[in-house]
Amino acid sequence: MSAALRDALAPLLEVRDLRKHFAVGGGLFGRGRAQLRAIDGLSFSIRPGEILSLVGESGSGKSTVGRTVLRLTAPTEGSIRFKGRDITALSRRQMRPLRRQMQLVFQDPYASLNPRMTVEQIVAAPLAIHGVGATRAERADTVEEALRLVGLLPQHAGRYPHEFSGGQRQRIGIARALVTRPDFVVADEPVSALDVSVQAQVVNLMLELRERLGLTMLVIAHDLAVVGHMSDRVAVMYLGRLVEVAETRALFTAPRHPYTEALLSAAP
Ligand code: ADP
Ligand code: MG
Repeated sequence: MSAALRDALAPLLEVRDLRKHFAVGGGLFGRGRAQLRAIDGLSFSIRPGEILSLVGESGSGKSTVGRTVLRLTAPTEGSIRFKGRDITALSRRQMRPLRRQMQLVFQDPYASLNPRMTVEQIVAAPLAIHGVGATRAERADTVEEALRLVGLLPQHAGRYPHEFSGGQRQRIGIARALVTRPDFVVADEPVSALDVSVQAQVVNLMLELRERLGLTMLVIAHDLAVVGHMSDRVAVMYLGRLVEVAETRALFTAPRHPYTEALLSAAP
């Protein structure tokens, strides 16, 4: 989809003045507790079919943004609209029907796949939560389809995570995120735990899936080579705020903010 066409569409996700504060420190009975502003007033939107990357150094609040826009946690202030609907204050129960439309790919496929579950159980887990796939056979079919999407085979379904390489594990993680056929995926540093040699394969898989399934993605990343290859636009985060949001090429060739410039010049 061209950038011009995408710009003409209503945003899939729209975030306005988002804040997320955590209470930290303090002694007995919370005396002297301070507010940590993990997200400190942040606005952006993502068009249907777009990949927006969120970059910034460790601790700048990227993962908190990912979790908050998916409403895995509640924002302190501001608003989040998904497909035009205000989801800022929805309860867990009200979010349930929306859950299958918005999924998360975790950073570390070594930590995020339960070692005691088979691939089939792992990938099927969101189906159980969302009550999809009525019969066992239907569920197995849906899982098989998700495995195929990420380049795994049906015979992998009965195996356990330790039998797979890092890249394959991340494919399992992606299959789990896609099994409910979401429209929107947040990928939190999806390749940073992987060997450099397999990073490109997983990045290319995600790009291919975006095309095939029409996915919209928020990709959290700190590797600028990955960001440059994957994103339509890039949002640069610093201390809980966005300092710059730009088309990928423009950001790399003509950064407008000194922090973006510093980030680019620090890259290998
Ligand atoms: P990033 O993903 O960019 O490394 P995070 O979103 O993980 O950043 O964290 C941003 C800030 O919020 C950090 O200072 C982190 O310690 C803090 N933080 C994140 N989650 C929590 C939490 N559940 N409770 C308290 N502080 C948190
Ligand atoms: Mg993070």
